Amino acid sequence: MGTKTRYNEKKVAAVHWAWYLEDSQTVLTPKYRMPPTVPGAPAALVIAHPGHELRVHGWLELTRPKVFILTDGSGRSGRSRLASTTRILSQVGAEPGPIYGRLTDLMFYSAVLNHDPNVFINLAEELAEAFIQAEVQYVAGDATEGYNPAHDICRLLIDTAVEMANWRSRRRIANFDFLLAGPPHACPTDLRADAICLQLQDDAFERKLRTARNYPELVSEVDNTLCTTGIEAFRVECLRPANTRGSNRLHEPLFYESYGEKQVAAGYYKQVLRYREHVIPLTKALWHYVGQGAR
Ligand SMILES: [Zn+2]
Repeated sequence: MGTKTRYNEKKVAAVHWAWYLEDSQTVLTPKYRMPPTVPGAPAALVIAHPGHELRVHGWLELTRPKVFILTDGSGRSGRSRLASTTRILSQVGAEPGPIYGRLTDLMFYSAVLNHDPNVFINLAEELAEAFIQAEVQYVAGDATEGYNPAHDICRLLIDTAVEMANWRSRRRIANFDFLLAGPPHACPTDLRADAICLQLQDDAFERKLRTARNYPELVSEVDNTLCTTGIEAFRVECLRPANTRGSNRLHEPLFYESYGEKQVAAGYYKQVLRYREHVIPLTKALWHYVGQGAR
């Protein structure tokens, strides 16, 4: 029972648009009421690292968004994993955007640690311009979770870029996030009415699992995640309305600070990247820039 639309019908048949109702349940709306952003509308995916696209593989197939990736995912190893993501994008027919693995992870982290907001202001400007050029109607990207600073800063860049693009183009780009550390179907009660949730049918779900398991650099991470969260949870892809201007609630100490302390103790890095010392000043600098007429 596929939803019939004039958009990309082959793919739509494999995936249902659904409204999220309960923590353990996704229920199709009786009238297949379309979310404000229909499949086929020009969309953008903005993620910090290659591989995040696996979380929304069904949505990727359905919408074929322009894909923006901040870093090459090289981490400490120095080996880029962009090529693996490029293969996935060409399989589903999605296109890389102008920002595609722009920084190594080490470059990204040192810009944050050195309090260099210009790197991020320039990225936000480029994103805003690309959204306008591509007449993007909605954006999906990393959520703020306090799990990885690059994910949280990616969210900051999306939010500021959307605000600038909206102001300059006098349009309204809808803005959604999805979880990378938390369970993929989790959605706060107050956001459910406006969230877009997909429940993948078997064929789309199988393609998603196969693609994830064949991502060479993430094999063990994928196995662990499927094992700890449970495979069925990944059948649901939930895009939640993004909570802009940094108002997401984070509980300190953040995961990435404790993790960073261990990495520094092990001698991998010299300095711990901290929320209050590094991320909050960067957040203020970006929003100050947006408020100073950069819109
Ligand atoms: Zn990541």
